[in-house]
Parts: sequence; structure tokens; C-alpha cells
Amino acid sequence: MAGRLIVVSNRIPTDDNVSGGLMVALHDALGYSGGIWIGAHSETSENTDDIVDLGGTAYRKLAFRLTDEELQNYYLGYANSVLWPLCHRRGDLVEMNSDYQAAYRRVNARVARILSQVIQPDDIVWVHDYHFLPLGAEMRRLGVTNRVGFFLHVPFPSLGDLSVLSQPQEFAADLASYNLIGLQTRADVARCLEMYRADPRAEFMNDGSIKFLDRITSVRSFPIGIDTKGFALEAQQNEQPFGKQAPETFLIGVDRLDYSKGLPNRFKGFAAYLQRRPDGSQPCLVQIAPPTREKVRAYQDITRELEEIAGHVNGSFAELDWTPLRYIHRSVPRARLARLYRKARACLVTSLADGMNLVAKEYVAAQDPEDPGVLILSRFAGAAEDMTQAVLINPYDIEDIARAIDVALAMPLAERKARNAALLQVVEATDVSVWSQNFLRVLKACPADFDFAP
Ligand code: UDP
Repeated sequence: MAGRLIVVSNRIPTDDNVSGGLMVALHDALGYSGGIWIGAHSETSENTDDIVDLGGTAYRKLAFRLTDEELQNYYLGYANSVLWPLCHRRGDLVEMNSDYQAAYRRVNARVARILSQVIQPDDIVWVHDYHFLPLGAEMRRLGVTNRVGFFLHVPFPSLGDLSVLSQPQEFAADLASYNLIGLQTRADVARCLEMYRADPRAEFMNDGSIKFLDRITSVRSFPIGIDTKGFALEAQQNEQPFGKQAPETFLIGVDRLDYSKGLPNRFKGFAAYLQRRPDGSQPCLVQIAPPTREKVRAYQDITRELEEIAGHVNGSFAELDWTPLRYIHRSVPRARLARLYRKARACLVTSLADGMNLVAKEYVAAQDPEDPGVLILSRFAGAAEDMTQAVLINPYDIEDIARAIDVALAMPLAERKARNAALLQVVEATDVSVWSQNFLRVLKACPADFDFAP
């Protein structure tokens, strides 16, 4: 009998209106095999034994509750003030705190208990992201021998970054509890293997998999993508993305307001471009940057810094009939974004570190193939590994950003078409449905774990 699929992710869709590429892909995979989707409930509760059954027809949705203390210490704390900065090369922003670590372990142990109660022998489990690194280890501790795979959506940290942790060896041991570790890029795989090479407990097998304390783990890259066709269709809708005041020539940026996205440098790069732009041109940068994790200090700091730079850019360059920087600190629905992308002459992705960056793929998918815009892409976004026909930049170099804007806005039609066609091939090859099918196929083919003795 084909087993069911159990998905664990921080967020779960709360109604039948599943939106977003990842959510749709997981929803489809679950619909196909049946199973359970487990994630955190958006409301906290003191009674954490409560599992909220959110129903569902093709598969069940179960939500676990966090206390206020856990929301603080597990979610905002360990996940987003330790692991997030660590994986995005910002060891300077890591907040060491033993309460964070204790809550992280406790929540993962609780989710493992929930899982061990609902799991059946043929089920396979797919765990998502840095909120749940130790979940596999906690499940093994409870005697679960099913195939369990893990996908890390953020960059894999280097050995140097990992040394910021109080117990870096735990990171390697936790991950080795999974049958399959899926990462975004080949560079991520290389960093993961480097970690195991430096660990005396790990041994490399002939096929490249890792034997770690008698368990075998495979490490592979599965670059995530988008629902390419669906997104292209949204972009072709006729409705105007702007109200009355549509700028004639504009670049677009779309990012959660996160310090990993390189927004200050993007604004400074745009200002450097404005300084030297051709006479009479009045290009505009439309930057959509919805707030995120606002209770974390580092996010409050970056928000303030960005507002200051935005004010400075407009103060220096604006004219009575021209606001060069339209900075929108709110989220914009995906369908409207798709139409905005299509009208934008270029898209700026300046991440200092980024697991993949789906905005880059969405921008390419949204273009009119007869008159496409240009993708300017940071070398440090996972997307840059395969999207080599973008105008690649070093986001630490303000001049390089300014030069890239110049190149993009002056690029001849033939070159724009050739680059967009090549990029679209990459986006199609990594479509999110292909991504989830590939991961699950490889996980199912992993050697089973029946020898494991808890
Ligand atoms: N997004 C959105 N509305 C916004 C800003 C972003 O729908 O106002 C979406 C965007 O279209 C993309 C996702 O959020 O699908 C961001 O994904 P990405 O991989 O670029 O960055 P992440 O936020 O995961 O770091």
C-alpha cells in the first residue's frame, strides 16, 4: 500500500484558499497521497496539549499551539534571532539565550510526540525549515523508524557561522536523524558536506551519502521554484497595477523588510544611478517591503535605517512632478504584484544572503516575451546559481548596483529577449511541482531506517 504523506511546516493554510507556490505544491502533494499537514496555530494558548483539528477532505490539517513564552523564545527567539541570522551570515545579530534554546527543543519534542501518535507504518514525513531542525532526532528518540526528510529553505551555514552556536555538534547530529536532507543549491550541499567532513562521527559512503553513528543520510539539492504557468497567467490580466499615477519607467523591488535583502544598499545603488542618469530621464524605483518579525530588535533597526535612506534619496532627487523612490511598507497581493512585475523595466534583487529568492523567478515568469524587462540579481541569492543570464551583481558594491541599473535600462530588445528566454527555461525546469515531486521521489528511494534502535 502506498503510504500517506505527513508535512510539517511553521505555517499551514487555514482555509481552503491555499495561496503561494510552496503552499500550493504541498497541498497538491498531500491531495495526491492523502495524509496530514501539521503546523503552528496562529493563536497562542496556555493549554499546549490542545491539537486543533482544522479538518480537510483530501488530507487532515492539525495545528499545535504555542504559549506566549514559546512564541517569544522558540519562534521569535531561537528560530528568528539565532538560526535565521546564523544562516544568513549575520553572526553579529545572533542573540544567545539559554531560554531560547530550551523552548526550541521543548516545542520540537512536543511536535514529535504529536507526530508519533498519528503516524502509521507506511507514512513518510517531510519536515520544512529551520523551525524544526531537531524534529527528526526527537522522533527517532520516540522510536519512529519511518522515512523522514528535511528541507532547509534558507542558506546552509558555513562551519564558521555554525561555531557561533553553543553546541555546534548538535546541528550535525540533529540533521543526521533524517534520511534525506534537501537543500536549495549545490553550494549549500557543499557547505553541508564540509560540516560532516569536519565531524569525526561522520563517515562518507561510496554513493556520497553519510554514515553518522550507524544511520545513513543523503544530502541533495532541490532548487525550489514557483507555479510558473499560474504566475504568468496572473501577470497577463489587463487590470492596471497602479491607480492614476503610473510611473513611465520604473524598476521594482519586492521583499519582506529583512536585513538579509540588502535594501539599504539597493537604495544607495539607485541613488548612485540617479546621480549619473541620462539627462531628462526620471526613472522610479517602486519598492514593496512589508513588515516582518517586528518584535525582533534587528528588524526594528533595519526599518528605521531604511526609512532614513528613503527620505534622503527623495530629499536629494525628487522634483515637483517626480518622486524617484516609492517605498511601500505594506504587503501587496500576489496577483497585483504579478502585473506590476510585467510593467517594470527591471527588477532589483540585492540579497546579501538568500536561500533561493522566489521574487527573481516570479519576475521572469511575469514578463512579456516580446518586450521583457531585465532581472538584476545578487550573486548571493540561491537563484543566481542557475539564473546566470540575469545581470549578476555584488550587492555589497554600491557602484556595481548603479552600473547594473544603467546596463538594464539601456539593454537592447534582442538581448533582453534572449536573456529572458534563457531565464524562463531555468524557472520552468525548477517549477515548484517538479521540486516537490523530486524531493518525495528521492525520499521514497532512501534506504529505510528499520535498524534504528531508539
Ligand atoms: N510577497 C507577496 N506580497 C508582498 C511581498 C512579497 O506576496 O507584498 C511574496 C512574493 O511574491 C514571494 C514571497 O512573498 O512569493 C517572497 O519569497 P522570497 O523567496 O523572495 O523571499 P522570502 O520572503 O521567502 O525570504
